[in-house]
Amino acid sequence: MTAPKGEQAGSPAGPTAAPTSDFIRSIVAEDLRTGRYQGRVVTRFPPEPNGYLHIGHAKSAWLNFGIAAENGGVCHLRFDDTNPAKEDVEYADSMQEDLRWLGLDWGDHLYYSSDHFDTLHAYAVQLIEAGKAYVCDLSQEEIRRYRGTLTEVGKESPYRNRTVAENLELFEGMRVGEFQEGSRVLRAKIDMSSGNLNMRDPVIYRILKVPHHRTGDKWCIYPTYDFAHGQSDSIEGVTHSICTVEFEDHRPLYDWLLDELNIYHPQQIEFARLNLSHTIMSKRKLRELVEQGVVSGWDDPRMPTLSGMRRRGYTPESIRTFCERIGVAKRENTVEIAMLEHCVREDLNRRALRVAAVLRPLRLVIENYPEDQVEELEAVNNPEDPSMGSRRVPFSRELYVERDDFSEDPPAKFFRLALGREVRLRYGYLITCVGVTKDEETGEVTELRCTYDPETRGGHAPDGRRVRGTIHWVSAAHSLPAEVRLYDHLFTTEKPDDGPAGSDYRSNLNPSSLEVLTACRVEPSLATARPGTPYQFERRGYFCVDPHDSSPGALVFNRTVSLRDSWSKIDREV
Ligand code: ATP
Ligand code: MG
Repeated sequence: MTAPKGEQAGSPAGPTAAPTSDFIRSIVAEDLRTGRYQGRVVTRFPPEPNGYLHIGHAKSAWLNFGIAAENGGVCHLRFDDTNPAKEDVEYADSMQEDLRWLGLDWGDHLYYSSDHFDTLHAYAVQLIEAGKAYVCDLSQEEIRRYRGTLTEVGKESPYRNRTVAENLELFEGMRVGEFQEGSRVLRAKIDMSSGNLNMRDPVIYRILKVPHHRTGDKWCIYPTYDFAHGQSDSIEGVTHSICTVEFEDHRPLYDWLLDELNIYHPQQIEFARLNLSHTIMSKRKLRELVEQGVVSGWDDPRMPTLSGMRRRGYTPESIRTFCERIGVAKRENTVEIAMLEHCVREDLNRRALRVAAVLRPLRLVIENYPEDQVEELEAVNNPEDPSMGSRRVPFSRELYVERDDFSEDPPAKFFRLALGREVRLRYGYLITCVGVTKDEETGEVTELRCTYDPETRGGHAPDGRRVRGTIHWVSAAHSLPAEVRLYDHLFTTEKPDDGPAGSDYRSNLNPSSLEVLTACRVEPSLATARPGTPYQFERRGYFCVDPHDSSPGALVFNRTVSLRDSWSKIDREV
């Protein structure tokens, strides 16, 4: 065994102690107790830079960075860039930005699998010299056919018994570009009758005549995931190589390669990937949505990507809470997206400023209020947190209220405005609706005529009469125009991938996942609203300024999440 590299340098910043333990943390604790890795804990988060990070990656990242931080270790960020045809620097850059946004810090420990290409090539030569790898001329299709199935043993390649000298020469030929893409591969020589298909002489190097975004034209052969991953873990001195369960069947190969090469041997541990209802988590499919224009980009607020969630107003804290609550297990399951939304709501409830915004405005005139009078009413910024103070909002004769806060034909339990009814204007007065103006042609209500009781400033009647409804409003002349984008789940079904036979996930797209309201009116304090500040539009939900499309003169808000919490309801019922 060679000595492990990648000692405990760098700052173990990032998540602090997690409240709960899990089977992986138990393994790490046991290894520390027995001194298996001389007290070292080195993990890694290894995304392939072929898309943007999503919430599933956040779970894996929290786990890896968390375990390192809790144990005084380090977590490496390693870009698994072994397939230059699909990868791009744009993706690697966005991934770093998203991880930093989550508060994760890898210090100096940024690696690329491509950093290790020289060593990996030397390892391949070492395997050939040991008679454990051979160059195979079968086509991809033939390799697949020869591999056999779960019930049928594989057939050995006719090239399997080439001499070491011939293999070395052919592999060198592959390296210098003598052969066409697809004409030859390097395979590990293991066991064509193994019960594990991954052990039936897996391909470990292939010819790809594609320049690499980091190594340029230096290589035209590239290691496969299986050959690059474990060896990169070894080179970097990783102790615990934590991955998702689909790699469980690759573990024997991971171990075989490290053992045959006789190099430092980290431990692979698998956990269940996160599946979230009403969305998809495969980068390939998310890329299809972007490329086909189904969404506006990787950071479309409906996407399960971290950049989409950031743009939508999700906070890193809420994502972290979610990752902690779902925990780590071995068995796959699907988590309700309502649980994620619950975590977002819980966090925003604490920090969001309450403001008034009228999304579907209806003009309201207070007939007995003086034409040129403007009052400043005091409004609380966050009832959850008195330290957030209060602000003054202008009140005048003409207001906007929500169209659906008025009913011409009020159903039972409708306590808002109707002809002859009295309601409370939030932070304002009690008003009574005394008339409506309608569009002569369409019959649509265009204006409400009301009177106010000047004795009720602050919303209380001195005579103690009971008023059940409280509605929000903005002053017509003082309010600002805004566009508001309401989002719903991207898919209508819980498991978009499980459609009827022959259909694909796209058939489950939600046609009303985006509703754009262009005639909204918001209170004047929002003139200075900036991206990153969460707001609660009273009675309407949590909102944030769209970082791309909003400007001080043309405000655009995204709805982060509605106020209705279906998750805590589920919780209570359990
Ligand atoms: P995708 O299908 O989204 O491309 P992937 O596994 O191919 O997924 P990678 O870039 O290889 O994506 O993933 C980086 C790390 O994140 C891996 O360790 C992977 O196991 C983990 N990961 C990816 N998706 C999830 C998920 N849904 N839940 C938990 N971990 C995940
Ligand atoms: Mg992958």
